[in-house]
Amino acid sequence: MGIASITDSIARVIDDTQSGAKELFEPVVRIGVTGLSRAGKTVFITSLIANLLDRSRMPGLKANPLISAAFLQPQPDDTIPRFAYEQHLQALNAPTPHWPESTSSISQLRLSLRTQPTGLLRGLKRAKTLHIDIVDYPGEWLLDLPLLKQSYAEWSAKTLAQAHTEARAGLSEDWLAQLADCDLGAALDEPHAQSLAEAFTAYLQAARQAGFSNCAPGRFLLPGDLKGSPALTFCPLPRPDKVRSKTLYGAFERRYEAYKKQIVKPFFRDHFARIDRQIVLVDALGAIHNGPESVEDLRLALGEILTSFRPGKNHILSMITGRKVEKILFAATKADHIHHSQHPQLTGFLEALLADAKDTANWKGASTQALSLAALRATVEQTTKHEGEMLDLVRGTLMVGGKDVALHPGDLPADPARLLTPAKEGAKLWPEDIDYNLPAFAPPKPGDEAPKGLAHIRMDRAAEFLIGDKL
Ligand code: GDP
Repeated sequence: MGIASITDSIARVIDDTQSGAKELFEPVVRIGVTGLSRAGKTVFITSLIANLLDRSRMPGLKANPLISAAFLQPQPDDTIPRFAYEQHLQALNAPTPHWPESTSSISQLRLSLRTQPTGLLRGLKRAKTLHIDIVDYPGEWLLDLPLLKQSYAEWSAKTLAQAHTEARAGLSEDWLAQLADCDLGAALDEPHAQSLAEAFTAYLQAARQAGFSNCAPGRFLLPGDLKGSPALTFCPLPRPDKVRSKTLYGAFERRYEAYKKQIVKPFFRDHFARIDRQIVLVDALGAIHNGPESVEDLRLALGEILTSFRPGKNHILSMITGRKVEKILFAATKADHIHHSQHPQLTGFLEALLADAKDTANWKGASTQALSLAALRATVEQTTKHEGEMLDLVRGTLMVGGKDVALHPGDLPADPARLLTPAKEGAKLWPEDIDYNLPAFAPPKPGDEAPKGLAHIRMDRAAEFLIGDKL
């Protein structure tokens, strides 16, 4: 070890001890916010911060009366981009509000809450500060965990089989046609490699757009700053009889291994492993709207995602992270699309969707909860008489066309099996009596008063679960 690195490590030990000592008085809790693309992460974090800074809409956060101050701080990690809170809030509070730009990479923000004991303890105990580091990252990146256990040949075989299924055939056509013309034994030709990787990425994007969730490798959809790098210039290939290193197959096999080693593992080791509490956002309503194939795909993707939270079950992950998250909240997002009378059914559906992955023995040590929420309430509720019966409606402004409408999006069945069984059995459409339509709503127009937090559904319950005990 050179002198420079010795002094560097001494400096780091001192630094760590100091920050350790500081944490005794000013504890830090790291909350991971994840979910597949469009699940609602960006809107969730923006709303959580806005509603913690101004807590007038947070009655369900029990320690609310004790909080004397809330403020944003410079985040402790200089290498992670800051979550663009102000920009996102501005989009939602603009005179013509619009939804903010979605999560495409990892970002972070630190919010600190100062609590002041009340009543008899007021004079005896001093004020306490809790730092909350909120880490936003794409759920797609968790879908990469299974790759660590798979060789290139195994992953290729699995991904090719999936691309050939009837449900995805129309989406993978171009890429598979390119593969069919490919001489796997030929020497690597970079433009050809790029063209194959682009066709594969286009297929994954089309699958995602069509509502499929299982679209690994995660960085192909959300590359962050790795766009165009050689680590992302590969795709699955059928295994030739003989593998030679200078061929296309040999090169793609090496790049796949580099992707695992240089991208997937560091993410789990440097970021994921440091998370104390986690919220997993699920656009269950969106999947139901897209149909049974989408629901089944979401169920499988969630199963994969959740293996990341069970390191005991996963040898590779135990080796990388060596610890478990303490609490996991599963939330069905965008619940403002349906009347509150339907929320129990939505939560029940989410619980059933998670049931496979959430088998109790494996969750020892982490407490979990499921709920339905809306980070930003874009609708109001109303009830009307229709053909002699009372009908629950939601009213909002449509994203497409900007029309103000009041509608009944359909009734979620009380028994989630009515949705999950046809999905598991490979149905293309829902049974006839299940009719469900979910239009996208624009964010609500601002009122005349200065905004106080953001209108939401159960964000206070989510905050109580995630940080309530720490306050
Ligand atoms: P991300 O990809 O997980 O970061 O997803 P976003 O937070 O960007 O959300 C994706 C889209 O879902 C938004 O642009 C909105 O159209 C919609 N959305 C997210 N949260 C809500 C919500 O609470 N209510 C409604 N009505 N729509 C939402």
